[in-house]
Amino acid sequence: MSKEEIIIGIDLGTTNTLVACYEGQIPCVIQENESRMIPSIVTYTGDEIFVGDKAKQNFSKYPETTFFSAKRFFGKTFAELEENLKKMPFKVTGDDKSLKFVTPNKNLSPFEISIEVLKEAKNRAQRVLNDNTIKKAVITVPAYFDDGQRNETKTAAMAAGLEVLRIINEPTAAALAYGLDFKKEGKIAVYDLGGGTFDISILDLKDGVFRVLSTNGDTFLGGDDFDTAIVDYLLEGVDEKRPEVLIALKYAAEEIKIRLSEKDSVPVKIDLLDEDFYIDKIITRDLFESLIQKKVKQTIRASKKALKDAQLEVGDISEVVLVGGSSRIPLVRSMVGEFFDKQPFIGLNPDEVVALGAATQARIISGKERDLLLLDVIPLSIGLETLGGAVTKVLLRNTTIPASVTEEFTTSVDDQTGINLNVYQGERELIEDCRPLGKFKLSVPPMKAGYPRVKVTFHIDENGMLKVDAFEERSGQKAQIEINPVIGLSHAEMNNVIKASIDCAMDDFQLRMIVELRNKAERIIVATERTYDKAYRLMEKSDVDEIKVWVKKAKDALKRHEKDQAILEKVVNTLGDLTLPLADLLFSDATKQALVGKETTAI
Ligand code: AMP
Repeated sequence: MSKEEIIIGIDLGTTNTLVACYEGQIPCVIQENESRMIPSIVTYTGDEIFVGDKAKQNFSKYPETTFFSAKRFFGKTFAELEENLKKMPFKVTGDDKSLKFVTPNKNLSPFEISIEVLKEAKNRAQRVLNDNTIKKAVITVPAYFDDGQRNETKTAAMAAGLEVLRIINEPTAAALAYGLDFKKEGKIAVYDLGGGTFDISILDLKDGVFRVLSTNGDTFLGGDDFDTAIVDYLLEGVDEKRPEVLIALKYAAEEIKIRLSEKDSVPVKIDLLDEDFYIDKIITRDLFESLIQKKVKQTIRASKKALKDAQLEVGDISEVVLVGGSSRIPLVRSMVGEFFDKQPFIGLNPDEVVALGAATQARIISGKERDLLLLDVIPLSIGLETLGGAVTKVLLRNTTIPASVTEEFTTSVDDQTGINLNVYQGERELIEDCRPLGKFKLSVPPMKAGYPRVKVTFHIDENGMLKVDAFEERSGQKAQIEINPVIGLSHAEMNNVIKASIDCAMDDFQLRMIVELRNKAERIIVATERTYDKAYRLMEKSDVDEIKVWVKKAKDALKRHEKDQAILEKVVNTLGDLTLPLADLLFSDATKQALVGKETTAI
C-alpha cells in the first residue's frame, strides 16, 4: 500500500511558528520534545545559526544578533520604523526603500530571517513524522498582506525547501479550524491579538468560501505592550537602564501577565542578587486591567472601524472567533464579547487555531473529506464539572446527533455571584482524567446556596458543533459557549480514553462515591451550622452537643481528605440521623412563626 502523502499547514507567526497536519481524521499540531511552538527567533553568531528555542535560550548571550518579531517588518522600510527600531536590542539598517537586519556576516531582509524559521518548521515535521519527503505546505499570512508580501512569503518558503500549495489568510484558517465552513453563510469577525500584533478581520462566508470584507489592526499592539505596562509599573520611580535587568524584568512581567489570566493577584518578588535590584509587590488583576485597558480599547476601536469598512453593524456578525495568545486575557474576552454582543468561540487553543486551520485547508486541497466532523454519534461523553472535581455527564457517548439535553444545577455556597461552568469530555469520573473543552461563567445575583436554578442545555448540531447554554431561572441571567469537541482529538487518543475508562471503571466508581459522600458531608455541615442557635432553643442541649461532635468528626474527615468510604459513610449517615429530628422541629417552628397572629380563615 502506498504511503499517504502528508501536506503540512504552517502558521508563520510573529512570536511563534506552528506546524500542523492531519492525523487520521483530525488536525494536530506537530509536537517535538514537549514543545508545540517554534519561537520565531533566529540567532546569528557568525559561525552558527540558532533557530526557535535554541535562539531564545541564546537571547541574553547574543542580544544584538538575535532577531525576533521579523514578521512585523515585512514590507516596511527603515525610514518608516526608525522610532520603533530604537527600542530593539538588535541592529537594523536601511533607508526609505529597504530594511535589513545586521548579522555578523551580512545584512538580511526580514524574509531571509523567516527562511530559517520555515526550514525549522519543515525539518520538525520531517523528524517527528519520520518522513523526509514532506515538503508540501499551506502557509498562512495576515489578511492585510498585499500581493508583494504574499509573494515574498512564498519565495521564503521555497528557499526553505517547501512547495507552497496555497497561501491562505490567517482569519480564514481560524474559521476553518472551528469548522465554520460547514455553516452555509454568515459574517464572521476574527479577532487576533498575539504577542506583537493585533488584527481584526471581517469575513463573508458563502457556500464554504470565505471572502475578506475588511481588515484593521495595529502591527505594534499586543502582549508585548502588556508586558511593558507591567515593567513600567514595577519600575515606577526607578531609573533602570541596564539591558540585562530590563530583559529579566520583561520575562518576569510576561509570567505575571499569564498567571493573572487565571488568578486574581500575583505576588512579585524579584531579587537580582548580582545586579543589586529588588522588587516586592503584589499585582492584582484589577490593577493589571487598569494598566492595559487603554490598549484593549484601541482594539475595540479598530474592530468598530473594520465593521464600518465592511458596511456592517454589530448585529450582522453571526460568529466571533478569538485567536492569539493574548486573547486568553479575561478582560480581552469580556470586552470583545461585550462589543460584539456575542460569546466568542474559545474552545480551541488560541495559539494553535491558525495552524490547525492551515492543516484543514491542506486536507481540503488534498481532496480528502473532513468526515469526522460529520460523525453521526458523539464519540465521547461530554459533561460539566460539579462539586469536588467530579464530572457529571450530560451528553452520553454514542448519542445520535443532533441532540439536546438540559440538566438543572445549583450552587453549594451562599452568595455566589458567579457560577463557573467547566465543560469536559471523556468517560472518567474526575476532571483530572477528562479533557477540558472550554469554560465560561454565568453571573448571578447573590443567593443562598441551593437557591439558584441553573438550567444548562448541551446542544450538539449535525456538524458536531457543541453549544452550551446556561440560564438561571430566578434572575433570568444567561451565558453561552460554542465548542467543536472533536478538533484536536486524534483517533488514538479517543481509543485510549475509552480503554482507560474501562480499565479504571472500578476505581473511578469508588472515587466518585467518595467525592459524592464528601459533597454530602459538606452540605450537611453548612446546613447544620447555620441552625445551631435555633437548635438549642428547640432541642435538648445534649442532643445538640452530640450533633456538634459529629459535625467536628465530619469536618476532620474532610480536612484530612478521608478516602475510606466506610468512614465517610459512617459520619454522613450518623449526621443525617442526628439532624433529622432537628429538620422536623425547624419545619414546625417555621410554620408556627408564619401562622402567628393570623386568623384561621386567612390560612
Ligand atoms: P501569539 O503571538 O499568538 O503566539 O501570542 C503570544 C502572546 O500571548 C505573548 O505576548 C504571550 O505572553 C501571550 N500569552 C500567552 N498565553 C497567555 C495567557 N494565558 N494570558 C495572557 N497572555 C498570554
